Amino acid sequence: MPDTIASSMDLRRQLPGVTTLLDHPELQPWRQRHGDRLPIRAIRETLAHYRQRLSEGAADDIGDNRPEEIDLIAAIRVRLELLTRANTRPVFNLTGTVIHTNLGRSPLSEAAIEAVVQAARHPVALEYDLERGRRGDRDRLVEDLLIELTGAEAATVVNNNAAAVLLSLTALGAGREAVISRGEMIEIGGAFRMPDVMSAAGCRLVEVGATNRTHARDFSQALGDDSGLIVKAHTSNYAITGFTSSVPERELARIAHEHGIPFMIDLGSGALTDFRALGLPHEAQPSEAIAAGADLVTFSGDKLLGGPQAGIVVGKRELIARLKQHPLKRALRCDKLTLAALEATLRCYRDSDRPSRSLPTLSMLARDVATIGDQASRLKPSMQAALEGIAEVSCRDCRSQLGSGSLPVDRLDSRALVLHCPGSRDLSRLECVLRGLPRPVIGRVHEGALWLDLRCLDGDEEERRFVEQLDTLRPLWDRTA
Ligand SMILES: *Cc1c(COP(=O)(O)O)cnc(C)c1O
Repeated sequence: MPDTIASSMDLRRQLPGVTTLLDHPELQPWRQRHGDRLPIRAIRETLAHYRQRLSEGAADDIGDNRPEEIDLIAAIRVRLELLTRANTRPVFNLTGTVIHTNLGRSPLSEAAIEAVVQAARHPVALEYDLERGRRGDRDRLVEDLLIELTGAEAATVVNNNAAAVLLSLTALGAGREAVISRGEMIEIGGAFRMPDVMSAAGCRLVEVGATNRTHARDFSQALGDDSGLIVKAHTSNYAITGFTSSVPERELARIAHEHGIPFMIDLGSGALTDFRALGLPHEAQPSEAIAAGADLVTFSGDKLLGGPQAGIVVGKRELIARLKQHPLKRALRCDKLTLAALEATLRCYRDSDRPSRSLPTLSMLARDVATIGDQASRLKPSMQAALEGIAEVSCRDCRSQLGSGSLPVDRLDSRALVLHCPGSRDLSRLECVLRGLPRPVIGRVHEGALWLDLRCLDGDEEERRFVEQLDTLRPLWDRTA
């Protein structure tokens, strides 16, 4: 038997046993917290890993002697930390996209968080009428607020805006024609494409006009006995510019009503406050769509509204009643946690003069570039110190985007920490290390460097947390060598 194999077998035999390791003082806090099952699993997996490496002849990596117990314990603790780390842990969104669908869109206000905690901990009158002492309707928790904020007659809420559109089209248009402009055949991402949603809802799609121009007469001519509704979709993630023309909402409402059918608008984002007051471009509000004569308006809860994921439908009482009675509504309804968060968010719009103070999404969007610039200068030295010999750090101007199909062409001036690495392999390694931090940092690769747009690092507390974990960067970097 060659010497090296013999010695690696010896080393494998010399690894301490599970019970010995389990009694190590450093593992006692884990046993107290979790019992023995989890620590034993971590010990077994770590030992298996060491045995594997020894049998692959990796004795050189591990050292010529049997692994020190202290190394084993450290490896077991790393494994325990990985095993107990939540998958839904917070990250730093420094991508420059404020409402980032892949990163969970809007963070909630403190009031909404508190409402979620209360609803999670206790029974709540979700579908219970406290005045009359009998069964109620869960929409009542938010319906009056939505009526007040949008000027609509009634409202209902489902899981997300895609569900709101599906429910509306199904309840109003199944088996009939849904008439829509060719310029609004939107794909929002994933499998949400207007033509597909219409077919899922059982509507026959009737496209009118051309991609760039649609006129009132295109709609009038397309309407017939089979028409179920006219649909307008907010082109929320692209813009058609140049030689364009579309039919104003007021006009579409008039045409629909002349034919005795409803007019529905999928607004997408749906801002509940005037964005111009925040120094931002104007974004269509549900109240404006209702005032223009729309019979149903759908929008998201977690885009510019800054609340939980939800799909809100506001509009005519009779139509909302049809939505509520449809079996799909039961399948698409939201839970008490969502409704609690949504109610608290809507109250903030109703009761506060400056909702941007308490709603993080609005506050991040409204941050001015000078504040972000000061922050970048403040953070640069710590970042440079943490990355000495790994990357060069500079502060650069950049442009944030709103994201999630809100104001697609508008960009907000912002400031970024830009990390330059000597080579592209180092850049990927750095990205990977930042994603491996206790609270992962997600940036954006642009022009061969990693850009950390600081717009969403809002507030002293967030900044402190960001700086605090920078000293764990180097050990992680060394481990990925
Ligand atoms: C975002 C969006 C949707 C989908 O909304 P979700 O809340 O993501 O389900 C539908 N229509 C438009 C116009 C949108 O912008």
